Amino acid sequence: GARDGLGAYLAKPETYAPSVVVYHNDDFVAIRDMFPKSSLHLLLLPRDQTKTRMHPFDAFEDAEFLEKVKAETRTLRTLAAGELRRKYGKDSAQEQARQVALSADPPPDELPQGRDWEQEIVVGVHAVPSMNHLHVHVLSVDRYSERLKHRKHYNSFSTPFFVPIEDFPLAEDDARRNPTQEGYLKRDFTCWRCGRGFGNRFAELKHHLEQEFKEWKKL
Ligand code: 5GP
Ligand code: ZN
Repeated sequence: GARDGLGAYLAKPETYAPSVVVYHNDDFVAIRDMFPKSSLHLLLLPRDQTKTRMHPFDAFEDAEFLEKVKAETRTLRTLAAGELRRKYGKDSAQEQARQVALSADPPPDELPQGRDWEQEIVVGVHAVPSMNHLHVHVLSVDRYSERLKHRKHYNSFSTPFFVPIEDFPLAEDDARRNPTQEGYLKRDFTCWRCGRGFGNRFAELKHHLEQEFKEWKKL
């Protein structure tokens, strides 16, 4: 069924264009989300057959597996940050010097400072995933996308419904383990950047997200 859609990437990652499957190795497949909820939205799919059908909370109970996934998300975060830098990075002399320094061999001890784009990326899972195959979201913080069309799209990445990978292992009594009781997806909207409240006014939120996006990317 539709909820099994991510399985195809696990089965035959090599058959997809690089614009779809970002990379794959023995243990992971990294893809672009087909319905991105931010200007950059990737998914990391672990290939471990014993884990791919599990709920993330259960899969991440395995400490060794969790560490492996965390390590891979650090790689993907760095890759995503590079993409943001290329898309939005200032075309300043400083940034150009940084690019030259990064490609130098051997690299210099001190790189010129640039914006830390890794800080602009969030990594985590949904408390109640909709797709069956285990996946970790790696997305830019902007929540700016045409595909962000429903209230639950915004809140699923902007409330405790989104569980950062850094928060695992979860405590036994963590409230996010029982998300249905919490109504995270029905909460009033809060801007991810300035914290302003928008009640349940989705159109207003969307308009505001566009303004915030413009500010954020050129900061
Ligand atoms: P979940 O809500 O399960 O944590 O997120 C599943 C994600 O998979 C969603 O962000 C959705 O846009 C994405 N998605 C659903 N079907 C497909 C697909 O066939 N291909 C890709 N690349 N992404 C998909
Ligand atoms: Zn705001």
